[in-house]
Amino acid sequence: MTNRPPRIDLIRNVERALRDASLQRQMGKAMPASRKARADVVAELPEWESLRSTAAGIKDHVLANLESYLRQLESQVSALGGTVHWASGAAEARAIITDLARSRGVRRIVKSKSMTTEEISLNAALEAAGARVVETDLGEYVVQLAGERPSHLIAPVIHKPTEEIADLFVRKLGVPRYERPEELARVAREVLRAEFLAAEMGITGVNFAIAESGTLVIVENEGNARLTTARPRIHVAVMGIEKVLPRMADLSVFLRILARSGTGQRASVYVSLLTGPRRAGETDGPEELHLVILDNGRRRLLADPGLRTALRCIRCGACQNECPVYRHAGGHAYGSVYAGPIGAVLTPAYEGMERARDLPFASTLCRACADVCPVKIDLPGMLVELRARAVRTGLAPWRDRMLVGAWTFFMRSPARFMLAGDLGRLAQRLVARGGKIERLPYPLSGWTAHRAAPALASTPFRAWWKSRQGGPR
Ligand code: SF4
Repeated sequence: MTNRPPRIDLIRNVERALRDASLQRQMGKAMPASRKARADVVAELPEWESLRSTAAGIKDHVLANLESYLRQLESQVSALGGTVHWASGAAEARAIITDLARSRGVRRIVKSKSMTTEEISLNAALEAAGARVVETDLGEYVVQLAGERPSHLIAPVIHKPTEEIADLFVRKLGVPRYERPEELARVAREVLRAEFLAAEMGITGVNFAIAESGTLVIVENEGNARLTTARPRIHVAVMGIEKVLPRMADLSVFLRILARSGTGQRASVYVSLLTGPRRAGETDGPEELHLVILDNGRRRLLADPGLRTALRCIRCGACQNECPVYRHAGGHAYGSVYAGPIGAVLTPAYEGMERARDLPFASTLCRACADVCPVKIDLPGMLVELRARAVRTGLAPWRDRMLVGAWTFFMRSPARFMLAGDLGRLAQRLVARGGKIERLPYPLSGWTAHRAAPALASTPFRAWWKSRQGGPR
């Protein structure tokens, strides 16, 4: 018997999300603001497109030479007095970090800025090993209190209205009901201050790791990662193998695109560059620095020519903000750590197609995600590729395979395509009213379960074009 987690039931999760009026209201409020902020600051930069190309080029160069940059990083970190650990999977990474905590008698841990530790379910393992782990970034702290997981790469609590957070704080922290975000942030800060002071170990993610200098770069807005790395005597940084950059000079490109794409800021508030543990004569910084470099399916992805460029991802979340499916379903519907278009690519790659076979279908293929991606990942192309694999391997549900088969048959010749249009126009007489189809019959009924579908035009485009060419221009 295997203990593989069950298949992600995307349809059920999405239906639940669409029925959740509070989630729908919150997503409807938060998403347009995030998209506008990004669009405004991106529009300020005439060189935006060339920055994207440069960033994609650097990432591709890294991916083509990954092992040598990782070895360079390892030797630089070691030369500075840090310790590098290699973890092939989640279980190994958890074991490395829990052993570190146990062997050093660590009871209290603060954490900051790390989706990678979410990916390996680190908190539960550390708690089972007897340590208390507290998330210190405000959003992560809220989801931890709520017993949930982040629903967005950089805005983990975007799904929760402020009133719900106010109630949560009353329930869990026993404080009066504060409703203003600044007041809630103050309460969290006061609680967390004590945690920082008591913690013996700080755990963070890594946004970028510079191979030439062994520098770990953490980008944030609250300053909690800075406290997490400066105050406790042990710092454990966890990074995926793809986070390495060759030179410090490359960093400026990524800092510019990350802040603008992620939070719609011109620059992030804090950028910490950590080069080795505390040295003699220094007053802060950890006595011990451990860098855990995680594979967990990434090398498999690297070896996959159809999907490898997904490893360019810098986890900015812009594709999530832009995706019409994510904007309505929210991050939890994807049933995994990584949600949205990038999640629909990474989850099947990391957790297996059997578990995540529905996720590549959670896209309208409108290409909005590809247009905003600062490292030019062709997410829609990858989603189509994954769909094709699901159909080829028989993993896609029979209904989808049947529809894809029919679609392929009709798209293969112009005559069949026109025949399909004629048949559709004939059939829609039964269901179309005022240019819209409110309800399609099974197996297409899902398309109209939550909104009307547009009816086919009464005149085919080709006929319209022909008549126009003969007429006035
Ligand atoms: S895929 Fe692109 S847009 Fe999406 S999180 Fe990654 S870098 Fe950002």
